[in-house]
Amino acid sequence: MQQELKPITIGIIGGGQLGRMICFEAHKMGFRTIVLCDKEGSPASFVTNKTIVADYDDRESLASFAQQVDVATFEFENIPYETVNFINQKISVYPNPKVLKITQNRILEKSFLQKIGVEVSDFLQIESLEDLLLGFNKFSKSILKTATMGYDGKGQFVLESEDSAKAAWDEIKNNPIILEKFCPFDLEISVLVARSTAGEIKSFAPVHNEHKNSILDKTSYPAPISNELQIKAQNIAQNIAKELDMVGILAVEFFVINDKLLVNELAPRPHNSGHITMDLCLTSQFEQLIRSIMGLKLGNSDFFTTGYMKNLIGEDVLSWQEYCNDSQSKLHLYGKNQIKDGRKMGHVNVFAPLK
Ligand code: AMP
Repeated sequence: MQQELKPITIGIIGGGQLGRMICFEAHKMGFRTIVLCDKEGSPASFVTNKTIVADYDDRESLASFAQQVDVATFEFENIPYETVNFINQKISVYPNPKVLKITQNRILEKSFLQKIGVEVSDFLQIESLEDLLLGFNKFSKSILKTATMGYDGKGQFVLESEDSAKAAWDEIKNNPIILEKFCPFDLEISVLVARSTAGEIKSFAPVHNEHKNSILDKTSYPAPISNELQIKAQNIAQNIAKELDMVGILAVEFFVINDKLLVNELAPRPHNSGHITMDLCLTSQFEQLIRSIMGLKLGNSDFFTTGYMKNLIGEDVLSWQEYCNDSQSKLHLYGKNQIKDGRKMGHVNVFAPLK
């Protein structure tokens, strides 16, 4: 007996390391992948069945991409909303473009969170230097951020005086801007939550995130917070995914202050802090994403050991062999052929078994 088995192809919009790791997981599960990316030689392009290199407003290429895939997802939130919306009119894109629109803009995101009853740090939309000085006088120590297109601390300024406020204003005045009250947090955690096409929801336990120069340096499990707070954080993350009516994976970043949780930021895609799940959990964030968008049951998201994820930033990557030779570590490199300061080149997951 011989029977044709039609392959299923997952489209990935964006070609960075997250796209690359989505491809690995998709292939492991037997799916094919096509990556849509605006640059040649992207990290995902080396591990996918096919890459379509096109500008994100090249409608002909977007339509061709949509025609060749069964379902699509995006791997970073700075893909233009119009691109994702256009593709979503032809085939399903998960999470849907409405989720992208909200999470692309810190003002829309924080307003949405407040509307559904989630606590965030105080913030103001800033449209003039006058707004900024009024806001600074209200909040005192605060952070000025571009409302869109920021990542890894880019476009952010800590304000401690009117002079620093004026200088920061000059740097970013041509962008949509948000001013946030500085939050003197004890620590930062994140929760990854998956929601499937069937509405099934599963979150991973919170992980503890430590930054260096505004870039994530280390993520560890377990997060040093009480059981009650761990459950509370997961409940908040699950509620946000439900309220967004999203399918896919959502990262929810929190500030922890005593026993209080403030949501700092959302990312509707696999997240750097979720890389720890690749080697320390029964199901990784990438497998959970594929399961959620393919209408499959979600996997068991339990951690089976304690440990941490360390990012290899810039020249850190030159020590890759040391990590590879350590029996407690799992190395993941992103295939980037140029080292730059602050560039994420890979990460390593390190087991620290439960004692
Ligand atoms: P973000 O891009 O919003 O995730 O900010 C990057 C990092 O800056 C966060 O992980 C925090 O360490 C810090 N940060 C951002 N917003 C605030 C805030 N309102 N108060 C204190 N620290 C902040």
